[in-house]
Formats: sequence, structure tokens, C-alpha cells
Amino acid sequence: MSGWRTHGGRVGEFVVSHQHPRHSRRNAIGGVGFRFVVASALAVATSCVGLVAPASAASSPGRSILDSASSLPAAAAACSPGAHTLGSLGDRLYPETGNGGYLSVHTNVDMVYDATTNRFLAGNDVELTDQATQCLTSFSLDFEPTSLDMVDGPDMIVGSVTVDGQPAGFSFVQPTFPGDPYGQADPNPAAHEVSQTDPVGGPLDNPLPPACSPELTSTDASLQNAQNGDQCPADKLVITPTKKIRNGATFTVVVNYTGRPGVHHDGDGTTEGWFRSSDGGFVTTEPVGSEAWMPLNDFPTAKPTYDFYDTVGAGLTAITNGRLVSTTPDPASAEFPAGSTTWHWTSSAPIASYLVEDSVGFYTLSEHTGPTGIVFYEAQDTSIPAAQQAKNLKIMNLQENITDFESQFNGPYPFTSAGIIIGTPPASFEEEMQTMITFAGGSIGTSVLYHENMHQWWGDNVTESGYDMTFYKEGLATLAQAFYTALRAEHAAGDTGTPARTATFDASLVSQFDKRYAKGGSAWVGAPSDPTPYTFFSNATTYQRPMAAYIALRQILGDANFAGALQEIQRDYGGGNIDEVRLEAAFHQWMPDQSTSCSLRLDAFFTQWFDTAYPSANGATKPQITGPGLDGPNFYDQNGGCST
Ligand SMILES: [Zn+2]
Repeated sequence: MSGWRTHGGRVGEFVVSHQHPRHSRRNAIGGVGFRFVVASALAVATSCVGLVAPASAASSPGRSILDSASSLPAAAAACSPGAHTLGSLGDRLYPETGNGGYLSVHTNVDMVYDATTNRFLAGNDVELTDQATQCLTSFSLDFEPTSLDMVDGPDMIVGSVTVDGQPAGFSFVQPTFPGDPYGQADPNPAAHEVSQTDPVGGPLDNPLPPACSPELTSTDASLQNAQNGDQCPADKLVITPTKKIRNGATFTVVVNYTGRPGVHHDGDGTTEGWFRSSDGGFVTTEPVGSEAWMPLNDFPTAKPTYDFYDTVGAGLTAITNGRLVSTTPDPASAEFPAGSTTWHWTSSAPIASYLVEDSVGFYTLSEHTGPTGIVFYEAQDTSIPAAQQAKNLKIMNLQENITDFESQFNGPYPFTSAGIIIGTPPASFEEEMQTMITFAGGSIGTSVLYHENMHQWWGDNVTESGYDMTFYKEGLATLAQAFYTALRAEHAAGDTGTPARTATFDASLVSQFDKRYAKGGSAWVGAPSDPTPYTFFSNATTYQRPMAAYIALRQILGDANFAGALQEIQRDYGGGNIDEVRLEAAFHQWMPDQSTSCSLRLDAFFTQWFDTAYPSANGATKPQITGPGLDGPNFYDQNGGCST
């Protein structure tokens, strides 16, 4: 993602700040945020039949979360509920998301959408094909049917759920903090609280980890802890089939739902999800906003393939991931008196939860096929002024060249299609929706296109293993912007046309590193791999510091080896995800000096750049290993070894 996500502190009021990678999401306007007051201990799951908490569990939030282990059943029953989270004990970034006990294999989105009223109509459903990884008595999805944001938030109702064609029971429950030894139906209200931090803290000084991240309505830093200690909303959709699902079985879940899709409020006060436009809806959703328009397994590593069958009023265009298969006109009906069209798009490549695109409006949509067979789509909302559309088109037309350039070091483009959609809502961030990059606010910029296009390899094809790995893909996407700056320097120096990157290109990267390294400020204060929900999309920490680390790594490994590592990661993890250990191991393999001392120094390099917080805000302390030719202590000693 890229783009400073800036919007007003009050619900529904936005301040446009466009054409920036999703960097620091700021908001200078204080606002009165809502607080969750909807849930109580009684709202905790009643449908779960898993681990039963001892009676004493409800007594106070102060108990140790570990002292109850001995009270657990001796062995898990043969069949049990799937986990209501894919998070781990102590996670503070969206610990409420993801669902265990099954793998997400394929999703059909059967959208029936009235753009005039901004509502999903009868017949709207998702059909999820999953594979059980345990014997399941019940399992869950993430779905935010309603929000305290009454204007732009979702307001949807689930009508029915079936599992393998049979009606299934369903209920909405609160999340429980991951790893709660009292089970995910823990009757202790403290096990279901919001926080920025671990432990929750808050007015009652809750010592337990958070069960969910806040949904702030202001980005004012002084209000970031305003919801700590509130109850999490009940956005876990628990489904209980009539029959147990055996381990290994493939099963199909259909969730019928209607109503108004909307945006999700994040832990930093910004929003993402389904943005209302005058002619429909514009979908851009990192990190968790997909659940504000459809039920899904809302975690980055859940990557089903997709088919979209979007029925919208005649004349409207539905734009999703993948390739357009067909458009089918439908006769006039009560819902669509002027007729409708069903747009079928398909993606045989798996798509991470936050990269599912599905926008509707009056769009121009064109396509052309590149020499290697990649289909490039270009879409713009027709309400964008003609002169701006012409400007936009010139930049959109660069995507094929940018893809060629980025393929030089990433390896082959991983998908069979690529595309850009420019919508009108001032979402104030751009996002790397898989094969269909979103630009908000009616315009596009070249540097940010380099960023989002780079994500097609980094984030999309090789997805982060969890939210705390977001820095890994944002750093690489920001590196693509540094490369673009270097390309322009090359052009200015008259080096244009040389096939290989030149001394001018390399000198520009060195200069960009040195400038970043010299700066004080927040880049060094927080560790990129350990943000809070509030600092998650900090420009300095999540984008700029990892970008600088990759420039240093390129200097340490050499250009060719750096590209070799990138391509190997694509081959090994494409279609899946990567964690920090595996990422770093891949770069280790491409170290020109395979000595133990250099290996240890590379470990220290990663620890300093990715995992270490340097509390001095003026930059007095920061990573003390850089690379050859860069400011700061060199990775190599004067003999070219790693004795330092
Ligand atoms: Zn990005």
C-alpha cells in the first residue's frame, strides 16, 4: 500500500491528501471517537462448545493466563471448534482476524449490488470452498456487519448460511485474545478487550493481551489509547454445521447477506474498505477492511483463488482482480428495472485477504495484451474531468514498461494480468490490489505506480506471514520508488538507453541512503517488525527505514546477488507467504562471503535494521552496520572480511 491516509477526525468527513504511498497516516483534526459499549460478557460466544473455562475464570482480569493450563482437558477432543484467530499469544496488531481449523481454497463472490442505494440485494452471497485441517464442530469467518460509524460504516444482515448445501447455525461472537488457555468462549470480559498494547491496560489495568485492535475515528496521537479496555465488537461469524466436518474434507460455505457495505475504522484512526462514490463503491482495504463488505478469512496468509460474478445495473462496470471472462446482460427485473449486467472475472492465482478488489461504477475499461501475454487493464471513473483522465492515461500507459523494469530484478511478473483502477473517493491512499492497483481521488502518480506495481511481487505474490511483517513488503515497494528516482538521475545524466543500471543509478541510491541515514526522527524510534496498530503505517518506520536497509543490503550483496535473492524468494514462496526468518535466510544464501563471521554480521545487520528500537528521537542512536560506499560503519572490514 502507499498513500498517506488522511481523513478528518469526524466520521464521514475527509481531508484529501492524495498521491502519496500509504505512509504516515496523519490527521491533524481532533475528533470525538466512538467507544465500543455494545458488548458485555454476556455477548461472548454461547455457541462454542470447546474448552470450558473453570468457574473461577470469570473472577477477575488479574489472573495469570498461564496458571490455568493444568485445568485444560487432558487431550483435545477428536472434533472441536476451529480457532477464531490466526494470531499468536501477545499479538497486538489485529489479533481478532483470521480463522483456524481450515484452509481457504476458493471463493465465489456472487454480488448483487444496487449502486443507487449502495446496497447488496437479495441473492447476494459469497461461496467459500475450504479444506478442514482438523475435525470441526464449528468454524468462523470475519465479518463486520455493523459499525458505530452510522454514515460510512457497514450495515448488513446475514440472512442464512449453508454448509455443503445444508442450513447451518450461525452467530456473531466477540474475539478472544489469541492463546487464551480458558478457550475462545472465556467468560471473563477482560479476555475480549480492545487495546493498542499488550497487555491491554486501560481504566481497569487489564493485564491480559488484547483481543482486538481499536477502531479509532481520529488519528490524533493523544487519542490513540482512548479505546483501550473497551469490549471488542462481535465480528466473528461462527458457523455450526449440522454434521461435524472431518479432517481433510473439502466443504463449501454459502453466506447470504444483504445491506450496505462500508468502511472499517483502523487502529490509527483511518478507514479502509468499501468507499461510497456517487456512482457505486470503490474498494481498497488494507489491512482488514475486506470484512466490511464480505465475510472471509481475513488474514494475509489466507489466500483462496477467486471468481467474481457481479450483477450490477446496466451501464455500470464491475472491476475486480484477475481476468475478465464475460459480461452477460440480464433482463429487466424488480431490482433492476432497466436491466442489469453480470460481470464474471476470475483469478486462478490466490489472493490475500486485503488485496481483493471489487469496485462498481461508471468506468471506462480498456485492455491490451503485452508481448509476453500479460493482459493490462486500465479503468477510470467517467466523472473524472477529461483533461485529468488524459493525464492519468499517460501514466497508466507506463505500467507495461514499469513491469518490464521491475522484472529485471524481481524475475518474471507473477500474474497473467495487471491493471489500474482510478476511482473518485478520497480514500487518501493507494493500494496494490492484486492485478488491479487502486488509485483514489481521481488521479495517479508515476512514483507511486512504481511502488504499487512492485507490490505485485512483494505482498501480493509473496505475502507477509502476518501484520508485523508488513515492513518487509513496504520496504521493497519503497525501494522501487528509490529506483525510479535513480532512473531519473540516469536520464538526466544522459545515460538513458543503457540496458544495465549505471554508475549514475548506483550513485543516486547511495545518496538516497545517506540522506535517510542522516535524518533523526521517528524512523529509528520504533522497530519496523514491532509496530502498534497506531504506528503500523508509519512512513518513517514501516517504509523508509526498511527501504534504506534494502539499499544497504544491495551494497553488501552486490546488485546481481541482491537480484538473485529476490528471484529465489519469488520462486520459493510465490503464491504463499514468507516470515522474517525465511526472508533473512534467503539473503544469507546470496552473501558473497559465506564465512561464519560474515553470517553473524548479517544477522546483526537484520536485527539492527528490522527489529531494534532506538529510543533517542533525534537519531543519536540508530543501526551501526551499513554497507560499502554508504555513510555509517561499513559491513565489511578494511580487508573485505567481517572481522569487525
Ligand atoms: Zn505499499
